[in-house]
Amino acid sequence: MPASLQANLQAVRQAIAASAERASRDPSAVTLVAVTKTVSVERIHEAITLGLRILGENRVQEAIPKMDEIGPANVDWHLVGHLQTNKVKFIEGRFQMVQSIDSTGVAQALDHRLGSPLEVLIEVNVAEEPQKTGAMPADLPAIAAVVASAGHLRLGGLMTVAPLVSDPEQVRPIFRRLRTLRDSTSQELGMPLPVLSMGMTDDYPIAVEEGATMLRLGRALFGPR
Ligand SMILES: *Cc1c(COP(=O)(O)O)cnc(C)c1O
Repeated sequence: MPASLQANLQAVRQAIAASAERASRDPSAVTLVAVTKTVSVERIHEAITLGLRILGENRVQEAIPKMDEIGPANVDWHLVGHLQTNKVKFIEGRFQMVQSIDSTGVAQALDHRLGSPLEVLIEVNVAEEPQKTGAMPADLPAIAAVVASAGHLRLGGLMTVAPLVSDPEQVRPIFRRLRTLRDSTSQELGMPLPVLSMGMTDDYPIAVEEGATMLRLGRALFGPR
């Protein structure tokens, strides 16, 4: 018997509220994305019933059959994993946000496939981990310029996946750095970039303290994968 999703959600909301209070932030400024990779359609239905309205998937191929089975449910789907250029044709009409733009190539390919506007975030590999996807910080200005000038892409902000660490305190500088990168990018482009998508199961209380506006939570809600 898996832990109750309802109980997990309540615990998550309490932790968000406590972190927000420590940082003098309004907890309602933090949006929850329920990451449903490997989660069954049955449990996704339960999540929707509990009021979770944004679902995150990290692979297009896994997401599409689930979306088809769930059908229209008044939810937004976010792609949070790496987007391959040969998959951009599947995005329109299915995903309401792509959080993982990480190159000028994929930004241009996606823009060319779209017929209507799409919200996107640029994923930054803040810790510059070689095995990971996400744009290197040095490449961010060029990618941001391409995204901002693309006809169909609406740049909302930045996303990062923090390194795996034993003590979540160690990721605090990563989140701070994403925020300063957001600030400098916003200044360079002369446009607001309100979204900071950072914080997962192991580190979201710290992400909230450091200004996250979007958390992507899988295990904290659905239990171990
Ligand atoms: C799996 C995944 C998450 C959620 O991870 P948890 O540690 O289970 O909360 C968030 N973001 C991305 C990009 C993921 O692939």
